[in-house]
Amino acid sequence: LLPVVGGNLAAPLAGNGAGGRTARAVNLDYAASAPALQAVADHVAEVLPYYASVHRGAGYASQVSTALYESARQTIGAFVGARPGDLTVFTRNTTDALNLLAGAVPQDGPGAGEVVVLDVEHHANLLPWTARRHRLIPTASTVAETVAALEATLAERPAALVAVTGCSNVTGEILPIGEIARIAHAHGARVVVDGAQLVPHRRVDIAALDVDYIAFSGHKIYAPFGSGVLIGRSDWLDAAQPHLAGGGAVRSVDAQGQAVWTTGVARHEGGTPNVLGAAALAAACRAIADLPEGAVEEHEAALSARLLEGLQEIPQVRVLRAWSDSTDRVGVVGFTVEGHEAARVAVYLSAEHGVGVRDGKFCAHPLLNRLGVTGGALRASLGLGSRSDDVERLLHAVRTLVTEGEKLRYEQIDGAWTP
Ligand code: PMP
Repeated sequence: LLPVVGGNLAAPLAGNGAGGRTARAVNLDYAASAPALQAVADHVAEVLPYYASVHRGAGYASQVSTALYESARQTIGAFVGARPGDLTVFTRNTTDALNLLAGAVPQDGPGAGEVVVLDVEHHANLLPWTARRHRLIPTASTVAETVAALEATLAERPAALVAVTGCSNVTGEILPIGEIARIAHAHGARVVVDGAQLVPHRRVDIAALDVDYIAFSGHKIYAPFGSGVLIGRSDWLDAAQPHLAGGGAVRSVDAQGQAVWTTGVARHEGGTPNVLGAAALAAACRAIADLPEGAVEEHEAALSARLLEGLQEIPQVRVLRAWSDSTDRVGVVGFTVEGHEAARVAVYLSAEHGVGVRDGKFCAHPLLNRLGVTGGALRASLGLGSRSDDVERLLHAVRTLVTEGEKLRYEQIDGAWTP
């Protein structure tokens, strides 16, 4: 749908008699890190001459850099429907953003700092909470029962916050975050959405959904690594200990080194910020926002339907689902191939077919364990640069694996399968 950098890389095919053969590298690993959009690369090249430290530099480049950084903040906030008064704090990634919020949950407010979390979460939206006061809800086999369990948990005793994923990074299934926000608010709790997998695929409006906080990562939404955001209500953030104590986060420091911390975004952004990362993330948001309404979903829907249908036609393939009644999903598909170790399948797909997927437990151990996946699974994920022949290449490769087996010999070196 939009050109990505590296969309036509040639992948070397490995092994006996491959004789330097290559194939177009098929990237079906957007959910881990999406390739940069060409528009992002162009914007970075355009702003690189103004590379200079922000905020307190008086020079021309510093002024331009500061304006870029602050306008990136506006763009990214507007992209997800931030309300007037919401803060858009730059972080390294989603993990960093959720850890920031975990340190900001008031311990003496309603719910006494307790956070309610589901066990389907990526570790980034699990471990910051389970390290503190929390209640972990074992996910039921349907979305309806899961939401009901959440409501019952909140009704039993108030909580400060509900932390929930917008979209599973294992199964691509989408949770009804608007409904969850309504339930949380009815019980006096706030809600934070882990938007890492949702925001690249769907238009999200936190004001319309009445979501209090959202976190996401630049590298999953077509910008390079190193930038992320936490967006949401200012009061908790203004009252919290600074996420990164240091330069820029203070109003003043006395002779004993005691700080009077500032409020607003600067309180949590100590140190020299990642201006290029912020500009790149904003450029990605702009490029996506400029697409016609529904274009991202439409582009992905057909590819995703074909991917699911093709995988389900292979009897040895099990497509993973967290909930039997989920109706909405993005192009992120977790699966296993019966009789084949996932780690080895991933190497086979790359070495013999030039198809890149991900294998493992996707930093979601509780979910994988609940689904009975012990050795790990595979995940194919789509995005703006995906094409229908990418999907066909994967399907052909998996069919070939189950009918003909691997052609190359693989050995395990240092724990990794190698052709
Ligand atoms: N949440 C979800 C749903 C994710 O898929 C990921 C990344 N795999 C994260 C959080 C963490 O993102 P990051 O590594 O950029 O912090």
